[in-house]
Amino acid sequence: MKKYLKGALLLGSFLLLGCTSLQNQKEEASIIIKNGTLLTMNSEREIIKNGVVVIKNNKIISVGDESLLKNYSAKKIIDAKNGIIMPGMINTHTHASMTVFRSLADDVPDRLNRYIFPLEAKMVTPELSYLGAKHGAMEMALGGVTTMVDMYLYEENAAIAVKEVGLRGIMTQNIIKYPTADGQNKGETLNRAIAFVEKYKNDELITPGFGPHGPHTVTKEELLKIKELSKKYNVPVSMHVAETDVEFNKIKKDFGMTPVEYLDSLGLLNERFISAHNIFVTDSDIELMKKRDVGVAHNMVANIKSAKGISPALKMHDDGLRVGLGTDGPMSGNTLDIIGQMGYVAKLHKLANKDRSAMPPKKVVEMATIGGARAIHRENELGSLENGKLADIVIVETSSVNMNPIFDPYSALVYSANASNVETVIVNGKIIVDNKQLKTVDVKKSIKDITDFKEKVQKVADTL
Ligand SMILES: [Zn+2]
Repeated sequence: MKKYLKGALLLGSFLLLGCTSLQNQKEEASIIIKNGTLLTMNSEREIIKNGVVVIKNNKIISVGDESLLKNYSAKKIIDAKNGIIMPGMINTHTHASMTVFRSLADDVPDRLNRYIFPLEAKMVTPELSYLGAKHGAMEMALGGVTTMVDMYLYEENAAIAVKEVGLRGIMTQNIIKYPTADGQNKGETLNRAIAFVEKYKNDELITPGFGPHGPHTVTKEELLKIKELSKKYNVPVSMHVAETDVEFNKIKKDFGMTPVEYLDSLGLLNERFISAHNIFVTDSDIELMKKRDVGVAHNMVANIKSAKGISPALKMHDDGLRVGLGTDGPMSGNTLDIIGQMGYVAKLHKLANKDRSAMPPKKVVEMATIGGARAIHRENELGSLENGKLADIVIVETSSVNMNPIFDPYSALVYSANASNVETVIVNGKIIVDNKQLKTVDVKKSIKDITDFKEKVQKVADTL
């Protein structure tokens, strides 16, 4: 009996020792971010003062307050210096390669047919698609965008550039019924899209997809094929929808339906569909879009710059649709960061609704982060800072003059901040912007490459 008691005591002290050493042993992580105001954007929209995010490889493994620091160690500790730690922003619609044409012929009537289409037909090459996309992706990264949804010509080259910069990209090959630089013959751009999808189907950062240009610029036959292909490969479709009155009237005249009804009649509207613009939509279109669970890309700045109109995106958001923010291409909206969109989104919807309370800053930040993730149907892995999600994280510094004082972090982001306040950007667990410097590609070289193109572009533009 005595012997037994001694043995038990011995075992007990071993267990105790074991527990103590376990307590002292911290779990090894890859990156720890500390000392910032954490906007989790989780379902409770929890804000954590002195917040800590722990990253292991490409995932977030813990989110909480500074008490977490006793449980984890990491080689890389990022001190957010009282900045705002938030989920990476999602640009749900752009054409990054068009940076090459930025600021050309702004505000000319019928610019799409007079300048954009002819310029693209004459000038776009695989090299242009690559250099332009790289420049665009750089701008997005520096402005806190971690995921972009793109649509352009020679999209496989744009995808290479986006990967080099280190962004997450939903890259969709443009498909249009007119001859283009990357498809002179009927069906060529669709075949290009198929080859691209097959090549990138399992890429970690790039999700390939189909990018039919618009309801009136793609044949019905090809739209039906795209519907089947998107299902077959289980990849997204991004498309301009109800963007102009010309499009609305043409579809009405040809098919007796709204653009949304027309696309639905072809079976295109589903959870793989990302619908950009949505200015000319009726209340029943909105109901239909909700029923079909499509994603919505709201491009306020591009839409008002071209005086096309204000999309009822606020109603869509409030009705529970999946609404994210987008910039459109840099010929349409000129800038590619989402922070620059947020103030316009808030102010214009308030004005349009004559209601100051209609669009609080929190709602706009929702659209920029978790809303964007919902719009691309990836809210389970992106859009908020929560355990198990992919480590796409942004730190916005609060030490600059324009960022002080801060009574409400959402308000500061929407009404005070600009893209140059973004200090750190992490995508898939990798730091791509550190202390406002892009770490992945040579910024100066890209600026030189893009300005070298300027003369060529101007020469062609002079003939139009
Ligand atoms: Zn667009």
